[in-house]
Amino acid sequence: MPLVNTKEMFEKAYKGGYAIGAFNCNNMEIVQAITEAAKECNSPVILQVSAGARKYAKPIYLKKMVEAAVEDTGLPIVLHLDHGADFEICKDCIDGGFTSVMIDCSSKPFEENIEITRKVVEYAHAHVPYVTVEAELGTLAGIEDDVKVEHGAESYTRPEQVEEFVKRTGVDSLAIAIGTSHGAYKFKPEQCTRDPKTGKLLPPPLRFDILEEVSRRLPGFPIVLHGSSSVNQEYVDIINAHGGKLVDAVGVPEEQLRQAARLSVCKINIDSDLRLAMTAGIRQHFEEHPEHFDPRQYVGDGRAYVKELVKHKIKEVLGSNDRL
Ligand SMILES: [Zn+2]
Repeated sequence: MPLVNTKEMFEKAYKGGYAIGAFNCNNMEIVQAITEAAKECNSPVILQVSAGARKYAKPIYLKKMVEAAVEDTGLPIVLHLDHGADFEICKDCIDGGFTSVMIDCSSKPFEENIEITRKVVEYAHAHVPYVTVEAELGTLAGIEDDVKVEHGAESYTRPEQVEEFVKRTGVDSLAIAIGTSHGAYKFKPEQCTRDPKTGKLLPPPLRFDILEEVSRRLPGFPIVLHGSSSVNQEYVDIINAHGGKLVDAVGVPEEQLRQAARLSVCKINIDSDLRLAMTAGIRQHFEEHPEHFDPRQYVGDGRAYVKELVKHKIKEVLGSNDRL
């Protein structure tokens, strides 16, 4: 099966009350970990690359690695551009064989966001085969590669804008801001409450009222959540027990993401959790085997940790297992 776009995948996910995991990748081990996990779970999957990943690995390597994963697993896989900043990078990816792109003009004024998004949609939909387009309304706090928004400067999606935006742009899916955030430090301690027993931070709940209002206005339309790592404590603990120093890292609770996946959310983006799992595997390996110096040994452990994490996400958070 060749690479696919998101159209049919999202239609099935919407009807089935689950979401597709969109996992960021930038090297071979991460691509293998994600796609082998998806294969074992009989799950469709989205591999997404950011501008930072393209800079790090070169677009041609990413493309060929993802093609190798398609051939190796036989799964329906989407190759998606995460946070395309302008028309040019989207065009470059479409021309280069991506099956889906995100144009992110969410920090620009509404009319400008519409104008640039529509231009990308026209180009993507005219492509053979059809390339799907994701856009964004509202802005998330946090840091993701080149995208940085200070805490306090984020803004929730305004539901009264979504119908006009989707109608005028022709976009295939829409990322909305309901309180998720990029990075491993999603919320400042003062935004959270602290569990008196464990001392751990408890993040503010997602704004399900906004999600429900958006869904009411856009029946059947696929919604996307960015910044949806949960910063699972077990990985933070492994990292910190083996020389790391992640203090007050906090993510979005998995049960809230599962709830969103049952509603209109068809794509959930996960990046930081993969980084944490990879780092936990490598740090643990080094401490247990200080004499090792073959990268296959420690990166291999990192890959195994990422694979376990992705299987957990597919089964317990996304609900996309056995949906082929
Ligand atoms: Zn994002």
